[in-house]
Amino acid sequence: MSSPDTKMAHISRRMLSAKAEQFTESVIREMTRLALKHGAVNLSQGFPDFAAPEEIKEAARQAISDNINQYAITWGAKPLRDAIVEKFERTQGVKYDPEREITICCGSTEAMMSAMMAIINPGDEIVVFEPFYENYGPDAILSGATPRFVKLRTPDWSFDEKELAAAFGPHTKAIILNTPNNPTGKVFTRAELEFIRDLCVRWNAYCITDEIYEHILYDGAEHISMARIEGMRDRTIVINGLSKTYSVTGWRVGWVLAPPEPTQPIRKVHDFLTVGAAAPLQQAGASAMRFPQSYYDKLASSYLTKRERLLKILTVAGFTVFKPRGAYYIMTDISGFADPDPVRFQADTKDVRFAKYLVEEIGVAVVPGSSFYNNAQDGASQVRFTFCKKEETLAAAEERLAKLHA
Ligand code: GLN
Repeated sequence: MSSPDTKMAHISRRMLSAKAEQFTESVIREMTRLALKHGAVNLSQGFPDFAAPEEIKEAARQAISDNINQYAITWGAKPLRDAIVEKFERTQGVKYDPEREITICCGSTEAMMSAMMAIINPGDEIVVFEPFYENYGPDAILSGATPRFVKLRTPDWSFDEKELAAAFGPHTKAIILNTPNNPTGKVFTRAELEFIRDLCVRWNAYCITDEIYEHILYDGAEHISMARIEGMRDRTIVINGLSKTYSVTGWRVGWVLAPPEPTQPIRKVHDFLTVGAAAPLQQAGASAMRFPQSYYDKLASSYLTKRERLLKILTVAGFTVFKPRGAYYIMTDISGFADPDPVRFQADTKDVRFAKYLVEEIGVAVVPGSSFYNNAQDGASQVRFTFCKKEETLAAAEERLAKLHA
């Protein structure tokens, strides 16, 4: 006879993965669930709440009608591989072989995980700039890498060269770079990339570069891919996807550009994880990659308007804002606000209490700063807002944030 209790007793910790136990569910994704639960304006998870371009939607409908509904080649449909390689050469001036140097994955999330699992061995270290996009923590744990964190410092998110140099060593397998950066909006300059290049060469390390926000740039900032820096073409692993550039985060189409040697294991890991990304959406992606330059210019200028709008809303509401030069997030400092009631809004750090208060009482969802740091205390006075939202959504947030008292 087995009661529910004895059944539970069988599922001891030994029966669960010790790796999975080391990280929590995504706070970013959780904030979206809380926003829905409390009817809050969702400025937490970075996905557009406006329509994707008509042309890309039509291309997807057409692909399904044209019977592109079975598996694509595991490492990606040829038209998409060709189109990505063509666009990368057009925009960054670097050539890749679509037969041997690209893998299409289920979103850049899978692309990053497949890349890490394909190159990491026990004892390997990775260098990660902090604050970092939440996923890189679990990526490191699941692939078995030990992260070495290097701070990006407010107000301009610059790093200390000595601190970065000290994070590299004989066990360094790779540095993870994300430019334009989530959550800070930093766009790494050529000089910074060259400094990183010198360390990668000195320690024989890869640079894994997440370039998903490549077209979302402000104030004349230029996106320079690490693959374009002299001497880095063959030690760079470029991660990107359709999600942010074409406002289709739910399609889950991403990719990895890398030299043939790492591409081989990346393709194997990818194949056994997911087999392949949705075939009709890969087909639609191929046509999107050929959008004219005016599409990308409009994308950046529409996000510029939204950035200005949210900067103003947040400043008026009493936040200290760090103006982003790229991507679609604003990191803020909440030191000017009182700590919400710790009995009602229980959490270890102020940012989490503040985010709970904001979603439940004010009706706006944000991401607590600690989600982007290894040590929660380091993000305790920050929260992240996103502005990839319709004007109505930003206006609703403005109205609600007016109830806040700095
Ligand atoms: N990149 C987005 C963010 O930081 C969300 C990504 C995701 O949830 N997969 O909010």
